[in-house]
Amino acid sequence: MGRSIADPPAGTMNGMQLETGDRVALLVPGSEAYLDAVISLLVRGVVPIPLDPRLTSHERDRILADLDPARVVTDDAALAALCTGWAPGDVPLARPMHVTSGTTGTPKGVWSGVLTLDRARALVAEEQELWGFAAEDVNLVLSPLYHSAPLRFAMGTLLAGGRVVVPGPFDADRVTAAITTERPTTMFCVPTHLQRLFEHWDACGTPDLSSFRLVAHAGAPCPEPLKRRLIETFRPGSTWEFYGSTEGQFTACRSEEWLARPGTVGRARPGRTLRVDPDGLIWCRVPEHARFEYYGAPEKTAAAWRHTPEGEEFTVGDLGRIDEDGYLYLDGRREDLVITGGVNVYPAEVENAIAAHPGVTDVAVYGVPDDRWGQRVVAAVVGTATPDELDRWCRERLAPPKRPKEYHVLDELPRTATGKVLRRALSARA
Ligand code: ATP
Repeated sequence: MGRSIADPPAGTMNGMQLETGDRVALLVPGSEAYLDAVISLLVRGVVPIPLDPRLTSHERDRILADLDPARVVTDDAALAALCTGWAPGDVPLARPMHVTSGTTGTPKGVWSGVLTLDRARALVAEEQELWGFAAEDVNLVLSPLYHSAPLRFAMGTLLAGGRVVVPGPFDADRVTAAITTERPTTMFCVPTHLQRLFEHWDACGTPDLSSFRLVAHAGAPCPEPLKRRLIETFRPGSTWEFYGSTEGQFTACRSEEWLARPGTVGRARPGRTLRVDPDGLIWCRVPEHARFEYYGAPEKTAAAWRHTPEGEEFTVGDLGRIDEDGYLYLDGRREDLVITGGVNVYPAEVENAIAAHPGVTDVAVYGVPDDRWGQRVVAAVVGTATPDELDRWCRERLAPPKRPKEYHVLDELPRTATGKVLRRALSARA
């Protein structure tokens, strides 16, 4: 069984001197060996920092200067040296330090520290309770493993004695082949993956999906038509959405809950409390073991957390609403809010209206500076719909300030590797 805290973490890993609490940056593509290395580090209380190997040297230098790791691993040989062994049931004594995607600015290192055994066990138990990872599970990895959600799914599966399949950078054909040969039981994905898989399956046939017991998506808004197709395509009860960020997972939503309340991302996970302030900003209270700070950035930590009579709570800058039964609906990010002529326009609301047009496959709404209105609403659209058709469509569905003043028809939207639209790139083009 697992190593205990009384059996102190090794100071040396295959000749590499690493102490508990040291940080090791990983700049190699995700693979089975990568997962082996990450878990080997964690069970010894060493903190892996999974990073995108495709970062430019400028981006990489900046992140490494901020996070100051003891080691930087850039090749397979160095990765293999970190694989020093672990067994299902071992308890990770540290949490990977992930950096946020940087969608809204510079990436931030989310640090929860080296854990006490109680904290570590509480985290494992929570994940286990929510997703029920088991020795029979086969987790198919679609997203880059330097992101927190796909890594948590893969690690949870391995630590429960299950198996993980990493087909490499997302490719609909390769994923489809892996579904047929490996019979996966779980996968985590972002909406863009689903969109691309369905397009592929329309052209080449849908594989047998009956092995899946859990298909979870998060990370970016899922357009309603895509969500309905997901629910219809996979086994009833197997599809989930959650809302979370690198800082934690805040909600979970079964497909039945979504069908009863289309658009919701679910209710707070056990132990979390969500609140929306009068400005629409979402605040979250978490148990002690799920607290975090931004590494080396006390001012960012202080800006995210605040004290209330009920306890400490934090925001990651998302806007939303909570209904009378506690279900959360997201309205986008504070930074993306468009203020036009003094009126607040939530891009998510306008995007939902446009996404319902049958000639639209993807859409992003954003603000661009405007001499008269401060900002004006602009839509970038992928699909066959023309700007005139979209203008007529929106006139029937949206009040004047919310209607885009311009439509740009593009071949595809600029997105991060985790499927987030790069609105900054779109508005900079304008
Ligand atoms: P940075 O803070 O550096 O800009 P980031 O917040 O983009 O990075 P992540 O932590 O990967 O990096 O993204 C989390 C964000 O993704 C959430 O704050 C939210 O805006 C969005 N998100 C997560 N889940 C969902 C969901 N189910 N539906 C819509 N948006 C989601």
